Amino acid sequence: MKNFKIAQPKTIDQITSLLSEKRDKYYLMAGGTDLLGEIKDEIIEPEAVVDLTSIPNLSYIKKEKDGVRIGALTTVAELAKNLMIKQEYPGLHEAANGIATPQLRNMATVGGNLCQRPRCWYYRDPQVKCRKKGGSRCFAFRGKNKYHAIFGGGLCYIVHPSDLAPVLFALDAEIFISSSKGDKSIPLTDFFILPKVTVSKENILEPDEVLKEVKIPAPKRGEKSTYYKLMERGAWDFALVSVAVKANVSGDVFKDTKIVLGGVAPAPWRLKKAENMIEGKKITENLLRQATKEALKDARPLKENEYKKELIETIVYRAALSLV
Ligand SMILES: Cc1cc2nc3c(=O)[nH]c(=O)nc-3n(C[C@H](O)[C@H](O)[C@H](O)COP(=O)(O)OP(=O)(O)OC[C@H]3O[C@@H](n4cnc5c(N)ncnc54)[C@H](O)[C@@H]3O)c2cc1C
Ligand code: SF4
Repeated sequence: MKNFKIAQPKTIDQITSLLSEKRDKYYLMAGGTDLLGEIKDEIIEPEAVVDLTSIPNLSYIKKEKDGVRIGALTTVAELAKNLMIKQEYPGLHEAANGIATPQLRNMATVGGNLCQRPRCWYYRDPQVKCRKKGGSRCFAFRGKNKYHAIFGGGLCYIVHPSDLAPVLFALDAEIFISSSKGDKSIPLTDFFILPKVTVSKENILEPDEVLKEVKIPAPKRGEKSTYYKLMERGAWDFALVSVAVKANVSGDVFKDTKIVLGGVAPAPWRLKKAENMIEGKKITENLLRQATKEALKDARPLKENEYKKELIETIVYRAALSLV
């Protein structure tokens, strides 16, 4: 690992102007659970890391009339133990609670979780210069691709590793971003990008932009949510396949349903065809399986990951039926 400096500015403005001046040389760090791994593995070689934790007041969960605001430096552990989150957004609680280990949840932040880099083993190998790292090939395409994407691939087949992302997507979260040019807010659905847009990154953030806050609207009457995650190992692991389901549930009828998958695409992946097929209907295992099968016609599995289709069919109906 190469030596690097640590910068500890005291305001967001200082951070964004430093990042803007030292583009691609200075990297932002929150809990460091992903960034330090990338530095140790020599995937990135920063001149300095800019410590976001030196900024006061970026860790909070504030309930307001129209929703809840979550500061970027709120840890995953704080999110998981918050009782209001557990009651009003159970899917978010379940997702946070299932991330990694207690030690990691104590360090990992909400902002860092959404901005973490992919886990593709070719990407994490410093000897390999794949397309995401400026090379000309995606080695996963014809190589070892058991954990890779079955939707939205093409130039690069990473899956987005965040467990918070699919559920925040389903909950219609909005994010607030600061940069040297000012502040802006966008729906989380516009935050993540597919490789066909830009292969080298997973979201729209520019090097001088900082994710400051996530806002989730207040749940509507009858709104329920859940998050199911399938892993290869029970102890801790990234999702092979996960699903966030949110719906307005009345008896066994679902309205305004969102079904968002994790672990299957370079960004959280909505099963819109399945959502449309179940809208306003009496929910049964049979209907959910049929609807999911229809949506899965768009999947493009690689040689080793066809199995994800079967996992998706099962996890979607189990998660959805748990809301009835
Ligand atoms: C062993 C292990 C198991 C894991 N298992 C899971 C799992 O099951 N589910 C899951 O979801 N994740 C898992 N993770 C990933 C983990 O959740 C992330 O590493 C963590 O959430 C990142 O948060 P952080 O605060 O440590 O970010 P950092 O490591 O500090 O940063 C990560 C990236 O995000 C950028 N960044 C951080 N904060 C911001 C911000 N506010 N604005 C803009 N950019 C920012 C950094 O520049 C960096 O590129 C695991 C990680 C490990 C090491
Ligand atoms: S999936 Fe993406 S990160 Fe992995 S080898 Fe292919 S281009 Fe690289």
